[in-house]
Amino acid sequence: MIRPFEYEYLDDHTVVVYTTCPSCGHVNCTEVSREQLWELEFAAENPMKGKLIQNILPDHSPSDRECLVSGVCSTCWDSMFPKHGVEDEDDREEDEE
Ligand SMILES: [Zn+2]
Repeated sequence: MIRPFEYEYLDDHTVVVYTTCPSCGHVNCTEVSREQLWELEFAAENPMKGKLIQNILPDHSPSDRECLVSGVCSTCWDSMFPKHGVEDEDDREEDEE
């Protein structure tokens, strides 16, 4: 599920992971801890045993996690899946009033 990615160490604890968007070619970087990188690599190599990415990176935004899973950047993600969720609910409430 998680594709191979490039990364470099910022310091002893922090790693910057680079992913390239398959749709537009935009390079996205996401900072994770070294332990989180290990968990991500383990999950990529052991899809049945590894943790889910939302459990590895609970504090990252959904778009950051999506970059690591599929590489798709937030811009392309938004255009593939236009407005849904919270904003739609707000619109509906306004319509009812
Ligand atoms: Zn993109």
